[in-house]
Amino acid sequence: MEMHLSYLLSKIRELLLLLGGTEVNDERAASLISRRHHSPHFVRYRRNIINKRVQIISALFVVLNLTWIAVDWALLPSEIALPMSGYRVLSSVIFLFLALYQAEENESYTWRLWLLFLNPLVFYLLALNQLQGVELQGWGGVLVEIYKLLPFIITTGVSVFPLTLIEGVSLGLVALASMLLGSWIVTGASEFFFMSTGWILLLMLGVTILATLTQLHFMFSLLHRISYDNLTGVFSRDTGREMIDLYFRLSLDQEAPFALAFVDLDHFKSINDNYGHDEGDEILKKAAASLQHHFRRGDIVVRWGGEEFLVVFPNTDLKGLKEVLGRLMEDWLGERPDGKPLTASIGVAERISDDVTDWPQLLELADKRMYLAKDGGRARAVLVGDEELSTNAQ
Ligand code: GH3
Ligand code: MG
Ligand code: MG
Repeated sequence: MEMHLSYLLSKIRELLLLLGGTEVNDERAASLISRRHHSPHFVRYRRNIINKRVQIISALFVVLNLTWIAVDWALLPSEIALPMSGYRVLSSVIFLFLALYQAEENESYTWRLWLLFLNPLVFYLLALNQLQGVELQGWGGVLVEIYKLLPFIITTGVSVFPLTLIEGVSLGLVALASMLLGSWIVTGASEFFFMSTGWILLLMLGVTILATLTQLHFMFSLLHRISYDNLTGVFSRDTGREMIDLYFRLSLDQEAPFALAFVDLDHFKSINDNYGHDEGDEILKKAAASLQHHFRRGDIVVRWGGEEFLVVFPNTDLKGLKEVLGRLMEDWLGERPDGKPLTASIGVAERISDDVTDWPQLLELADKRMYLAKDGGRARAVLVGDEELSTNAQ
């Protein structure tokens, strides 16, 4: 069983590599299966996209649903068209609610996504119940057949979203179960279901889920490319800005501390001049890795420019910052090619202690203090109130 599963997984990986163009490593595979493995950054990005799509599709269904009322009245006997119109109006109200709903920034999309799918499925079951035993000729008959196929349309809808395997399969199984129930409503028995339409729906579900996974895989690759700096692997400047903006607002809401540290490597140019640009690149990579190693998981390391990094500390006060900087300054950021420690000049600013109201102001203060650290002799940090923190390494 395990053999089969790992074989299946390896085939899925090969297929995704073919469709997505990039390798599916273990971490990526886990992220494609469940959202438990998504980083907060990715969660935010995907949530915004899903939220927007839920709104757009809901708006589309409001229009489609209401227009279809005319078709019902034209092709169905009025005693059936009347309740159908009622169901359509009801489900349109739910779609309208979804289309207009403005989600909070950190609000999960889960219940709205489920409502988006469950709404037409419930409509489908109500409609079939209404059409039970109705024998119509011509276009009316065609319309009844279309109603029976609604779960197909709903299942295809899954592919519009970048969903994980677990999400896609759960939605798909609910659509399948509805179709089973629908077939039982219409015929009173479900044994023919899998011989006729059931297996086609299953097949389609497989293709649909593959489409959602490919989309999710693409999204990971794209976000990775735009979010991280190519050379050092830490966050790029644009992403850094977004994160500063977000965490600064959160710290305002929660009245929590929020600090920034500008880290400019000392005498970096001389490494390039004496040992070449490639060696300079290697040292930069190690400096970024060392920054990430020294700070907590929640801290954000950004490559702000050439040999300049910005570290964002959500929820860290001055005391905590001094501790963490003290530790960093013990071993600094690796070694220069001549074996001396690679030092930096660091400028720190903190929202509450510096009493600032927006983050550009905080950035400016940190930048100014970084220059004070340079002027003070490098290999040191300048903190709030221009307090200096230094070691004897130079
Ligand atoms: P200071 O202590 O005053 O900061 O001296 P410095 O030499 O570090 O300062 P400066 O800003 O004058 O020079 C920064 C140098 O960083 C210039 C550039 O050659 C180098 N640099 C910037 N980006 C990269 C990069 O991606 N790779 C390499 N190898 N060097 C880079
Ligand atoms: Mg510089
Ligand atoms: Mg420098």
